[in-house]
Amino acid sequence: MKYTSLALAAAGVVACMQPAAANDWNAPQAPFALYGNTYYVGTHGLSAVLITSKQGHILIDGGSDKSAPQIARSIRQLGFRVEDIRLILNSHAHFDHAGGIAELQRLSGAEVVAGSAAVPVLRSGQADKGDPQFGNLAPMAPVAKVRAVGDGEVITLGPLAVTMHATPGHTRGGASWTWTATEQGKPARMVYADSLNAFAAKPFRYSGDPAYPTARADLERSIATVAGLPCDVLVSAHPEGSDLWQRYARRAALGSAAFIDNTACRTYADKARVRLATQLAQEETP
Ligand SMILES: [Zn+2]
Repeated sequence: MKYTSLALAAAGVVACMQPAAANDWNAPQAPFALYGNTYYVGTHGLSAVLITSKQGHILIDGGSDKSAPQIARSIRQLGFRVEDIRLILNSHAHFDHAGGIAELQRLSGAEVVAGSAAVPVLRSGQADKGDPQFGNLAPMAPVAKVRAVGDGEVITLGPLAVTMHATPGHTRGGASWTWTATEQGKPARMVYADSLNAFAAKPFRYSGDPAYPTARADLERSIATVAGLPCDVLVSAHPEGSDLWQRYARRAALGSAAFIDNTACRTYADKARVRLATQLAQEETP
């Protein structure tokens, strides 16, 4: 079967593929509470999550360059100060998740934290030559203060603690992030999942490519990592990839319980496994 990016978008499995889809990515979205101290502040098509505390906030992802003003506005609309963001974490260094980070850093002064292979990409704004989508990637505004973190490392800010889980494969420096949010005494295990989709720009091959020889093995491991995360509330880098809007629709009736689904990480991983199999099959076809 031949997928177009729109068909993939409709199937909820697209990630960071076509710059042409960028207008839809930035469709407006009112910010809302996900659970406890954690809020959705992204656009309708690109996730960004704010984890708040009295000692400053952590923002995960900055959308595209066009998303940044909307994200800043959403944060202010919730009653928080953009200047109180101390750390900006990144899922992966593609223009649709990291393109807005430079501007959000300028507004906040926050330090940026990412997987080590993402650091040179963020600092230069130039795509990684080992990126499976190299050649299809728009450049980004370079980011000033970027710190590398490794698998299992815990990033703390006042009472906040967020754990980094290395999830390479979609990119070499991909990361997923987990933390606990509490609401009315009830903790929920929160996951911000990186894109796990095997998308390649020709001539890259997941089945073996000198530009990134471990791409397939990395992605298989990352899919297993996300499937195994403690996971009550999942937000994926592209919100439709984890059915966020279906859960959002139930929020009026259920409150934040609408977002809880402890099978969500496994379902998300299953979709990524299917996408990888499709990609490998396509690489077999001349
Ligand atoms: Zn991507």
